[in-house]
Formats: sequence, C-alpha cells, structure tokens
Amino acid sequence: MNELSNFTTLRVGGPAQKIVHAHSEDELIQFVKSADEAKEPVLILGGGSNLLISDAGFAGTVIRVENKGNALEYDACSGGMIEVAAGEDWDKFVELSINQGFADLESLSGIPGTVGGSPIQNIGAYGHEVSETIARVRVYDRVGKAIKTFAAAECNFSYRGSIFKSEKDRYVILNVTFQLRKGDQSLPITYAELAKHLGVSIGDRAPVKEVRKAVLELRARKGMLLDSSENQIMSAGSFFVNPIISKAAADKLPADAPRWPQSDGQVKTSAAWLMEQAGVLKGEKFAGAQISERHVLALTNSGTAKADDIVKLAKVAKQRVFEKFGIELKAEVQLIGLDLN
Ligand SMILES: Cc1cc2nc3c(=O)[nH]c(=O)nc-3n(C[C@H](O)[C@H](O)[C@H](O)COP(=O)(O)OP(=O)(O)OC[C@H]3O[C@@H](n4cnc5c(N)ncnc54)[C@H](O)[C@@H]3O)c2cc1C
Repeated sequence: MNELSNFTTLRVGGPAQKIVHAHSEDELIQFVKSADEAKEPVLILGGGSNLLISDAGFAGTVIRVENKGNALEYDACSGGMIEVAAGEDWDKFVELSINQGFADLESLSGIPGTVGGSPIQNIGAYGHEVSETIARVRVYDRVGKAIKTFAAAECNFSYRGSIFKSEKDRYVILNVTFQLRKGDQSLPITYAELAKHLGVSIGDRAPVKEVRKAVLELRARKGMLLDSSENQIMSAGSFFVNPIISKAAADKLPADAPRWPQSDGQVKTSAAWLMEQAGVLKGEKFAGAQISERHVLALTNSGTAKADDIVKLAKVAKQRVFEKFGIELKAEVQLIGLDLN
C-alpha cells in the first residue's frame, strides 16, 4: 500500500519508504519534526494533483496532509474571514463558500487538490488567482522550527509561484485564511472563453452560481476535472507553465501568437499554442503516456504509463518547442526524483 501511484492523480509513482497520515495540525507538525530530527527526507503530500513521482518512489517519509475543519468570522465591513485546514478538499471548500453566500472563488471551481496546496503555486484559472482571496497562511517553518503566519503581502505571490514554492520544502502549510465578499455577483469576468460561455462581455459580473457551473462545464470539456468514472482522465492538469519571455523574444514570435504583457515589461505567451505550432499533437503517445485528446497541455496516463514514459513524452514536447521557437518550457508539475533535462 506504500505505492505512491495510489496517491497521485497521474496514478504513477513507486513505493515510499514510509507513509503517515496527519489527521490534525498537531500530528502534522509532530510527523515533520520527528522526520527532521531523524534526518529523513520528507515529502509533504496533499491531493497529489500536481506531482510526478519517479518509478523508484521516495526514500523517506511521505506525510499526507489530512487535517480538516474550517472557522468562519463574518463582519459587514471586511466580509467573511474563513480559516480552512490544509487537508480540506479545495473544490468542496469552493462549493461550500458559494453555498454560504460568499463570492470570489467561483472561477477556481473544479481545481483538484487540497486547500493547503492552493497557495503553493498560487492556483489560477479563467482569469483569477487564489492570491486575490488569501488573507494569511499559517505554516510550520522547518528551518526556524516554529509556527509562523504569513500575511498575504509576505507570500510573494506571482504567476504559479509563491514563497512556499521558491523556498522549496521549508514551509508546511497548516491552514489558509480566505477573505471573501458576501454577495451573489462574481468577480469581473476577464477570460474571453468564459465570457462567451456565459453570454456576457469582458469586465461584466455574473451570478456566482452560474459562473461556477460554466467553469465546471468548460473544465469537463477539456478533461480538466477529476471525476470518479471509469473513464477518468489521469493527469496532473497543465504539465507546463505559460512561458514569460522578454519583449524582444515575443516580437520574434509569429503575429498570431498569444501575447499577454506583464507589469514588468515581459510578455507571457501560451505553452499550449507553442506546443501545437511545434507539432505536438493531441492524442500523441509514448508507451502508456499520452498528450490528452482534449487539451494539449495535459500529459496523461492512458492506463499503463510509468513515470518514465511521462517524462519521455514531456521531453519530446519540450524539445520540439525549443527547436521551433528557442523557448524552454518549464514544468508546472512538481517532479520528485525526476528531471526533464
Ligand atoms: C485535472 C487537473 C486540473 C488542474 N487544473 C489546475 C488549474 O486550473 N489551475 C492550477 O493552478 N492548477 C491546476 N491543477 C494542478 C493542481 O490541482 C493544483 O496545483 C493543486 O493546488 C495541487 O494541490 P495538491 O493538494 O494536490 O498538491 P500536491 O500535488 O499533493 O503537492 C504539490 C506540491 O505542494 C506541496 N504541498 C502540498 N500540500 C502542502 C502543504 N500543506 N504544505 C506544504 N507543501 C505542500 C507538495 O509537497 C508538492 O511540492 C490541476 C490538476 C489536475 C489533475
């Protein structure tokens, strides 16, 4: 039962030396402290939805975050402050917040994983990021050996990044506090595909419940939802991040390449567009690994894949994009015991 493939959405990953399940914050801290004192390598595991773990597995202690619970404080001025345990399921929390009459998380509906996983890569979808709603993050600091609370401004949130990702393995997230607006109108819709699906214009708001429904429909079409059916698509979502490149490099791309200017003068472009233009095809296979038939950015396990197959397919995609555009794709998925070079 120590096979890590049982705990990742890609359903790959070899055995862990030891797996422990932390059902409370105290247990989580104790497991981390004991492993650190014994100088054992530690892997913190949430929902396993952003992980590609090697076939050799993990030679250390895997600590699965399973603490639960939330506490709500509400006042008419600041809205709802909801402190949520790291081990809670992300989408169940989104649904609960909407059912309790809160807005602002609707665009992030349907993202797999835990609440504790959400600040790490500052999850984002359909024009919004979780950092827009985070008030503070409570962590155990493995270097300082103490509990610490980060205010949002201290989390260094960026596109698919945060201090919890850049200072890798240092902070164990215990809970996250969200500040949410009471209301039934969404944040402004900034994503063209979502606006079209809802029949509204960019910048408009829409009823929160309708936005959640629309996002879930769009995600289902792209195979970007986890479900319990036999035909579930086994992936870790988008495998690569959208590259952020210099303006000079962006100017060299073909005229129809997507370009999203960033506040620092750089330009974000689309990894999916680059892959498609470089000849990476939906449905393309390497052994058991397959480019999703519904979304070129999702590398999937067609049923028999090993982690090595996924890595080989990712390397092919990366190489084709580099040869055609000179742009190096970087993995969004966290690689354990593997690299793409
Ligand atoms: C079908 C699908 C669709 C997806 N769509 C999106 C999307 O639209 N947008 C998006 O941003 N992401 C998306 N993802 C990626 C993924 O769902 C998110 O990154 C998610 O937040 C990962 O959470 P997790 O609990 O599964 O983390 P895991 O995969 O378990 O872990 C990811 C990393 O976080 C660390 N970690 C996890 N929990 C903690 C903790 N409590 N403390 C410290 N470190 C921790 C792990 O050690 C690891 O390094 C998608 C994934 C899938 C499978």
